[in-house]
Amino acid sequence: MSRQVMHSCEPFLLKAPIAIASMCKAAMYRFARTESEFLSQLKAEVLSIRGEDQSVVGAVRARIPFGGLPHTPILESLLDALGIKGTFAPFEPLIKSCHDLSWVLSPSPGLGVAFDTPESLQSLPLPPSPLPPSLGGKLQGKIYECFSKSEKCVDFARSMSQKLVVTLREEASRSLRVPVNWVATLTEVLRNVRPHTACCVFKTLIGGWTTSVRMHEHDRLACIFGCRNQPDEINHYFFCTSLWQIASQSLRVETPLGLAQRLCIAEPTPDTARLLALVFSLYHFCKTRAKDLGGAPYLGPNVVQNLAFEAARALRNHVLVFVQFSGWLA
Ligand SMILES: [Zn+2]
Repeated sequence: MSRQVMHSCEPFLLKAPIAIASMCKAAMYRFARTESEFLSQLKAEVLSIRGEDQSVVGAVRARIPFGGLPHTPILESLLDALGIKGTFAPFEPLIKSCHDLSWVLSPSPGLGVAFDTPESLQSLPLPPSPLPPSLGGKLQGKIYECFSKSEKCVDFARSMSQKLVVTLREEASRSLRVPVNWVATLTEVLRNVRPHTACCVFKTLIGGWTTSVRMHEHDRLACIFGCRNQPDEINHYFFCTSLWQIASQSLRVETPLGLAQRLCIAEPTPDTARLLALVFSLYHFCKTRAKDLGGAPYLGPNVVQNLAFEAARALRNHVLVFVQFSGWLA
């Protein structure tokens, strides 16, 4: 899974991981904004004690010398944050695209401009323009919301379709018919199931099964449920008769015939989502449990299937839950 998909998976997982780089930048901006007056004064003091010795670049622009360090001095970075310069410059298009962040790009004339001319070296920058009241004290959160777009998918639905091609492989993907708005339809349905169920569906769509093929295990297993000449590979388990039969019997839900329906890409319902989630859970439980008991090949398919039968009774409770948003009542 790419970082962009990981940071964009809120529709499936309710909460996406924090985009760390953007969070750090947002925190820097918030700190710089809060301490802008002190930082500007500090820079003026630093430049005043710099002395006569300066680089050519320093003669053109009043920047704090690097001092032999490979990175921009922290003070300069913080002031860059206020002016959306330096490492913050790539965020400028994003800020411009957010109509309610226009105040970010209209700081006081003292920021950046004053330092760029030798005559103004001793002048202190004016504080930045006041924050809009509508911000409600959520400066860092608002800036993070904007900056984090740089670490998210521009088109999440398209990225999911691309990921699905990787999961299913080229051949199966060509024959699978996908509704244009399948991601939006599916995520709407997933609002009516438990987060755990939605998570299992998401992991399946992105190919996140720990099969021996995907995990590059030394011993490439066959289907742990006993299908003849079938590998321990996700694309087989989408059709594994034993696995789906155990899950569908446990939930009393009929197994869809088509792959698109089984994967909840076409005509998704809470029932098919729960079924897919139970299939996902049963496989991973049986794979792990069989490994603890000596391995699936050692136990044989009958024992593994019995493990699945037993586990289904408990695991079904993880996916069965009453519906909060009426209309799909189970
Ligand atoms: Zn099988």
